[in-house]
Amino acid sequence: MERIVRYLASDDMKGRGFGTEEGRTAARFVAGQFEKFGLKPGGESNTYFQKFGNGFNVLGVLEGRKHPDTHIVISAHHDHLGEKDGRIYNGADDNASGVAMLLELAEAFSKASKPNYSILFISFEAEELGKGMAGSRYFVRSGLYDTKKFRAMICFDLVGGNLFEWEDRKVYAFGSEHCERLSKKLSSHIGQARAVSDYLDVTKVGVYLIEPLGQSIARSDYAGFRDAGVPFVFFTTGTPWYYHTTEDDADKLNYRKMEMLGRFLFDFIKDISQDEGQFYFSPEIATDRIDALNIAKILDGILLHKVSLTLDKRTEKYIIEKLPLVKRMASGEVSMDKQLIQWLTARIMVIAAKSRR
Ligand SMILES: [Zn+2]
Repeated sequence: MERIVRYLASDDMKGRGFGTEEGRTAARFVAGQFEKFGLKPGGESNTYFQKFGNGFNVLGVLEGRKHPDTHIVISAHHDHLGEKDGRIYNGADDNASGVAMLLELAEAFSKASKPNYSILFISFEAEELGKGMAGSRYFVRSGLYDTKKFRAMICFDLVGGNLFEWEDRKVYAFGSEHCERLSKKLSSHIGQARAVSDYLDVTKVGVYLIEPLGQSIARSDYAGFRDAGVPFVFFTTGTPWYYHTTEDDADKLNYRKMEMLGRFLFDFIKDISQDEGQFYFSPEIATDRIDALNIAKILDGILLHKVSLTLDKRTEKYIIEKLPLVKRMASGEVSMDKQLIQWLTARIMVIAAKSRR
């Protein structure tokens, strides 16, 4: 995966801006890989492409044995910010890492025994454009596929970093709470992975945590699929200090973690591609006190490592004040205060963004 990240995030690719020649080069590269792995063209007119503005969504299909018309969507986005004021935004973590993961899985599944359901691999265009997720929202609206027949959607956006330096094994999995069966499957794989090795720590979290302004301000390509009622999981290692800066470079990434995550994802996706149970989407979800537990863990980590962080006194005082309450939510002593943990999550992201290392 490192080779792919280094290629896509090289200066020659000029940050893969939407509608640029380099953006199209990235799309053609993904299509070439899909072809090499023997995936069927999944785009318009029997090609790997769906045209979107001056760019392309790239689609490849691995046909299912028993349910070829039902798809599991695996996705990332290949575009990034391009160039601004003569400076290149390489976007190694965002999202060359996700594309590398997508291709790693496409290759692994193409060599494995056929899944029961079809797997549709998509590299989206224009995630970074305007209000965001333009390529994936266009795909959902376009009618190229019947989204009612999508069993699940798995997306990767920034899967190669460490949100904080001590999170070198951590990966967050958002959104499975919208589908009970998918959520249970994810939990069981997390448990199995932990039993085998403590190298990878996949943590399941409610997606509402990173959407304090509501579902209309979503964080990645899952948004359009959720609106269409497709169960989803959004995997990310979070937005470290270099997020959307010119320093999001290939040298910053944790390739060991990416390899471990790749193995985890293969097993997880293989399971949902063999399982015959129905996946139902529930729009309304209850807050889970596990989310409070996970936020408490991060806040404990921040206080423990505060010397290495940019943490102002006021924020520190606020965390110290609220942490006991969050822990009582986690233990079930008090009921969940959704707004408070959303607010604390936002503070955590600000601390991560400010703490250059
Ligand atoms: Zn992104």
